[in-house]
Amino acid sequence: METQTLVIASGNSGKVREFEGLFSGLPLIVKAQPEGLDVEETGSTFTANARIKALAVAAETGKWALADDSGLSVDALDGAPGVHSARYAPSDAERIARLLQALESEDNRTAQFCAALCVAAPDGRLLLEVEGQCKGRITRSPRGDQGFGYDPIFEVEGTQRTFAEMSLKEKKAHGHRGRAFTLLEPRLRQLLSQQ
Ligand code: IMP
Repeated sequence: METQTLVIASGNSGKVREFEGLFSGLPLIVKAQPEGLDVEETGSTFTANARIKALAVAAETGKWALADDSGLSVDALDGAPGVHSARYAPSDAERIARLLQALESEDNRTAQFCAALCVAAPDGRLLLEVEGQCKGRITRSPRGDQGFGYDPIFEVEGTQRTFAEMSLKEKKAHGHRGRAFTLLEPRLRQLLSQQ
């Protein structure tokens, strides 16, 4: 039986390495997508964007492809920055400043991080789709120096700590991406056993 190849639909080598590590126990060859392949994220939800990227890369490479899309949705801002999280401002510091400014006179600080994962086949079939979430609230000012992105201003529900105040291991246990991986792994294993 031929070992299945899974192309990671991302130009980010850090992401590819992270997935390689996560899937190291599965009978899979994990590969990065070909250079120069840039898929536009035109969806209005995280799941829609993960689907668009996985389908495009699977069609282009002729292999199964896995894509992810993630971001932060703030309730008082009707879900913003949402799918625009990465483009909300030019840098992490400016994104944080813009979000704190937008919530300056707001008492409702609830928010959630979401990570959608999609595995697609080259013939256009969607093989797997999962979504992991992490609830919390936006702090009044940044705290902690771990992680990336909005981590210093996102306090995880029930912990009184921001993602930036957590170790990588703790963030994985609580976090949206960790939860999405936990949902995906057994289903991917089952899918592979049916091949
Ligand atoms: P993408 O999923 O690579 O398109 O990135 C989505 C954007 O959402 C990132 O650039 C960050 O700004 C934000 N984001 C997603 N996950 C996290 C996280 O775990 N911590 C902080 N920011 C995140």
